Amino acid sequence: MNFDLSPRAVRWLARLEAFQQRYLLPHNAAWHAAAARGEHPAFVADLRALAREEGLWNLCLPRLPAGAPGTALSHEDYAPLAEAMGRLPWAAEVFNCHAPDSGNMELLLQHGSQAQRRRWLDPLLAGEMRSAFAMSEPDVASSDPTGLATEVRRDGDMLVVSGRKWFITGAAHPDCRLLVVVCRNADAPEGERHGAHSLVLVPMDSPGFECVRNIPVLQHTALDGHCEIVLRNVRVPADHLLGGWGEGFALAQSRLGPGRVHHCMRTLGQCELALALACDRALERRAFGKPLAQQANVQEWIAESRIEIEQARLLVLRTAWALDQPEPPADLRACIAAIKVVAARLQVRVVDRAIQVFGAMGLSPDTPLAYFLTWGRALRLMDGPDEVHLRTVARSELRRAEEQRGRWADYFTTPEQMAAPVRLR
Ligand SMILES: Cc1cc2nc3c(=O)[nH]c(=O)nc-3n(C[C@H](O)[C@H](O)[C@H](O)COP(=O)(O)OP(=O)(O)OC[C@H]3O[C@@H](n4cnc5c(N)ncnc54)[C@H](O)[C@@H]3O)c2cc1C
Repeated sequence: MNFDLSPRAVRWLARLEAFQQRYLLPHNAAWHAAAARGEHPAFVADLRALAREEGLWNLCLPRLPAGAPGTALSHEDYAPLAEAMGRLPWAAEVFNCHAPDSGNMELLLQHGSQAQRRRWLDPLLAGEMRSAFAMSEPDVASSDPTGLATEVRRDGDMLVVSGRKWFITGAAHPDCRLLVVVCRNADAPEGERHGAHSLVLVPMDSPGFECVRNIPVLQHTALDGHCEIVLRNVRVPADHLLGGWGEGFALAQSRLGPGRVHHCMRTLGQCELALALACDRALERRAFGKPLAQQANVQEWIAESRIEIEQARLLVLRTAWALDQPEPPADLRACIAAIKVVAARLQVRVVDRAIQVFGAMGLSPDTPLAYFLTWGRALRLMDGPDEVHLRTVARSELRRAEEQRGRWADYFTTPEQMAAPVRLR
């Protein structure tokens, strides 16, 4: 077993870290100042152009075809890069590796028709536009996507979409032009669950499309938005169907796999930074005659955080490796579900401890901790709540137990077993 990063990952990580240090960090305060005013900082476009020139572009798409802009790194090689990007809330965007575009590009790469790829994928890969993915709805429990109610019906050679979506990340970005909408087919039989949904590509300038509001998350308003959107009989040509009629559920699931892993990778970067900041603070801040670092409880928090981060990273890397396999292991889905739970909970715990070390300053906007805590808490819901992922892990475990039933019987020491004669042959 080799725990080293591959030489390729080491090379790309060094380039990315150097770029981040040289070009992004000096702009970080200005980015936050602009975000606080609700403005998209103009320099991000320049930095994106520079990152693309340097080849630090579309790093997260292993299936990128030859000739397309990007590196086609494996998930495993991309993991440490995503971790480094995670330290800054806006870094992934500079390298065109941000959610939800990364997942939408993956979807279009795998399932888009030639015309769809030309119209939507090429500009997304080139960084000329943005997109969003609309699954969740206010009126149904969206952790069970089979119950979604936004409807699509066929009308001649048009598709008509009606419904309301919310928490749609990225939809407030000025360059966002495309919404990938998960819809229930109007002709799906009652009770049909997994074959009843389709994905429809809805241009955001379609008549009937309305972005109602950008919903703040724990009172933080995201610049790119988590938006509520109404679709009132929005009509698009039939060739805006992505994949087959009724394949929406399967496609949406496949899209969420790598996206969840990317979130977890970035979480590790945020946790590492929170821990590093907490350690620095504990070493320099003195109370009751000694540095905080000498308090046993502070040492315990630091140790717990280090141990938990290392555990989580192993699971994330194992899952990234599993995603890269031509024949993914049978437990891939359970692995993705497991790291989603582990990473989100980790972030809440590690950042909470760091905030406690910082005292009141940890709650202020002067450190990244308040943002990290908000994001970690939101991560326990976005892309599915913990409980749904735990259900996936439990089901996988119980399926395996069912297949192996009786295998462990000899480990019991019931009176009957103890009374049975011992036979060596
Ligand atoms: C910051 C942020 C960004 C988001 N971005 C997007 C986006 O871009 N696109 C998008 O479509 N959605 C997005 N979402 C929505 C997110 O995916 C949903 O909130 C999530 O899937 C849960 O759905 P829900 O809110 O309807 O909760 P519900 O489905 O109503 O569930 C509520 C609670 O019920 C419990 N529960 C549900 N099912 C089970 C179960 N099987 N077992 C035990 N308990 C259960 C859980 O505790 C759960 O938290 C985002 C959310 C946030 C917070």
